[in-house]
Amino acid sequence: MIHKYRLNGYRIVMDTNSGAVHLFEEAPFLMLDYLEKEDCVPETPPQDMLEALRGQFDEKTLTQAYAELRELYASGQLFSADEYEKFASMMTNAPVKSMCLNIAHDCNLRCEYCFAAKGDFGRGRMLMPLEVAKKAIDFLVEKSGTRHNLEVDFLVESH
Ligand code: SF4
Repeated sequence: MIHKYRLNGYRIVMDTNSGAVHLFEEAPFLMLDYLEKEDCVPETPPQDMLEALRGQFDEKTLTQAYAELRELYASGQLFSADEYEKFASMMTNAPVKSMCLNIAHDCNLRCEYCFAAKGDFGRGRMLMPLEVAKKAIDFLVEKSGTRHNLEVDFLVESH
């Protein structure tokens, strides 16, 4: 699987499974649109891709671009295999052992330079209703499995 996008004039391609990040020229970047659905770079270039791009690039550019894609694919840096897929079924839910409750969405200082929009994170000043807090504690106990010692932190912006 890949993720491709343009940013600040760069054509960026991230290969999700290997973590490789590439900067591409235009031709190989456009080629990926035709290869994404197959999730691979086949030995023979897809005909529909070549026909669509022949109007924009000469044969040499297309040949070189495809050879570069093949090279990245062969070295496991493009459309690489998902090594973790086989472990997905082994995953179990881990118990929750701690919780941080944002009980006061406000701050009494309200600094102009505040990272949190003067303490309310730009979403209005409020206190956590008691019922919400009780439900949060119930959730923590319910999801804590066999743990006996649990931790609850209270996040307040006031000073
Ligand atoms: S959270 Fe900190 S920076 Fe923001 S208003 Fe309060 S004291 Fe100032």
